Amino acid sequence: VQSGVAVVTGSNKGIGLAIVRALCKQFNGDVYVTSRDVGRGEEAVKTLNSEGLKPKFHQLDINDLNSIKNAAAYFKGKYDGVDILINNAGTAFKASDTTPFGVQAEVTLRTNFFATRDVLTHFLPLVKAGGRVVNVSSMLSASGLKQCSPELQQRFHSEDITEDELVVLMQRFVDEAKKGEHKQGGWPDMSYAVSKIGVTVLSMIHARHLSKERPKDGILINACCPGWVRTEIAAPGAPKSPDEGAITPVYLALLAPGATEPHGKYVSDKEVQPW
Ligand code: NDP
Repeated sequence: VQSGVAVVTGSNKGIGLAIVRALCKQFNGDVYVTSRDVGRGEEAVKTLNSEGLKPKFHQLDINDLNSIKNAAAYFKGKYDGVDILINNAGTAFKASDTTPFGVQAEVTLRTNFFATRDVLTHFLPLVKAGGRVVNVSSMLSASGLKQCSPELQQRFHSEDITEDELVVLMQRFVDEAKKGEHKQGGWPDMSYAVSKIGVTVLSMIHARHLSKERPKDGILINACCPGWVRTEIAAPGAPKSPDEGAITPVYLALLAPGATEPHGKYVSDKEVQPW
């Protein structure tokens, strides 16, 4: 049984809370609810306490660089790093929302891509040998990719795309969206899908980087889709409960010690999916 410490972003509700619940039952170590709002985070801990589970709590707003640095310093100091990191925090506008597309693009990319990247920047160096990193992406990353121009698809499929190039492309989407030029730029008309393309490709880039820079550490990093889950983000008619949505992220977080795959893959229903 693995032991150590697991950190789940955006886990005061929804799939994140369900991931913490499952890890409390299956992972032999401290499991952290993190939330941007301390009150909501403590409520979540109480909910799990009432189920007989004992998660811990730390504040973490992924849109706030100081909050990320504080949390990273805390886990470094208390545990000398982390064993499991699940980047689950995310946001989506409702289809009915009338916020201008350019604003939706900026806000959605800021949290789902840029802030997730900031967490990885500060936490990946803390991930211990044998660690597992799971980035919650979406099936819309795969379908959105198919709607990108051939040029963009080629870059998002390539083995040599760098983090810097990905950041430039994601920023280009936001800039073009603000000018109403994203379709001419070869992008799909869905900010959420573009943000999750970024999450999936970033996971692949980090996997290649870890294999090269820390080959002996056996860290596995993957992107996944939880499925269509009944939470605030999705419609009430979604087929999966949050606990069912947690299954694939938790599977990737608990890949057996010594496992070498999946790594740098996009996974849903516990199966590696084509990208
Ligand atoms: P919820 O809206 O229920 O939960 C989202 C969580 O992310 C909340 O805890 C929210 O906190 C948190 N969050 C948002 N912004 C930040 C931030 N800046 N810092 C820290 N936490 C933040 O949605 P889900 O549980 O459905 O979403 C979880 C993940 O699953 C997301 O990445 C989503 O994109 C992904 N996903 C969901 C699908 C679904 O069908 N539900 C399908 C595919 C992917 P707060 O309460 O403070 O807002």
